[in-house]
Amino acid sequence: MKRRRPLGQNFLSDPQVAERILDEANLDSGGRVLEIGPGQGQLTAGLLDRADSVVAIELDQKLCAVLQKKFGGNPRFTLIQADALKYDYSALGSELQVVSNLPYYVATPILKRLTVFRARFKNMTLMLQKEVAERVTASPESRDYGSLSVFLQLHCDLEKLFDVGKSCFSPPPKVDSTVIRVVPLPAPRVEVVDEKLLFRLVHAAFFHKRKMLKNNLSMWKNLFQIEHDNMNIAGIDLARRGESLSLQEFAAIANHIHASHGSS
Ligand code: SAM
Repeated sequence: MKRRRPLGQNFLSDPQVAERILDEANLDSGGRVLEIGPGQGQLTAGLLDRADSVVAIELDQKLCAVLQKKFGGNPRFTLIQADALKYDYSALGSELQVVSNLPYYVATPILKRLTVFRARFKNMTLMLQKEVAERVTASPESRDYGSLSVFLQLHCDLEKLFDVGKSCFSPPPKVDSTVIRVVPLPAPRVEVVDEKLLFRLVHAAFFHKRKMLKNNLSMWKNLFQIEHDNMNIAGIDLARRGESLSLQEFAAIANHIHASHGSS
């Protein structure tokens, strides 16, 4: 079969890596699994062995025909030809475990969309490019810390499980990969009155990464205060850079702006 790189079609060719992903997914034997981008079914057969049922969302029509031929006879397998970026996951019910080797060209937006629908998912075991795994798990002060880290960490527990080299795929991707575990939290990690406002603030704080908060947050300068010669907002020193702020500190500033302005 001719492989179409534009759809991120780097298929897992190392069965040991597939086995390790399935082990880490720790599937409930009576549970339901959602697989995004099943490809030629490299993970699907193992998922069907371990879970009660599998719903797979694949965009490529030709691959859907291959999958239908391989697994279509199994009543515990449902194939949906759709774009995972647009799919309405609420149609699938809840308590799903997600297992996926994501298409890397859209891994970040798919991860964000899954996070938006997080109430549907018990946990997710995802392979994505190492660089994205570093960003979502990054802590303040690290090079990879940014708005994606803040968004994911506000709503989920995240854990890096293991790295996978390029040679474990066919054709090999240009970048290394990492498998991560994502467990949605029942409530946001910190109390945020207005999440839209929080992310306006976070984007502004990271806009010029090397600049101090007093420059990046100038749109809220009417709320800046001076205490002991230090300029601050919600008690946070504005000489600091956005990359040094914890989730709690971002939330404190956002809640302070909300209390002063009333809305986003
Ligand atoms: N699961 C297989 C494996 O582990 O080898 C294939 C993984 S491959 C990295 C990504 C898969 O996602 C491909 O089958 C590709 O066709 C599919 N895909 C790409 N874009 C998609 C999208 N927007 N929605 C759903 N599937 C997509």
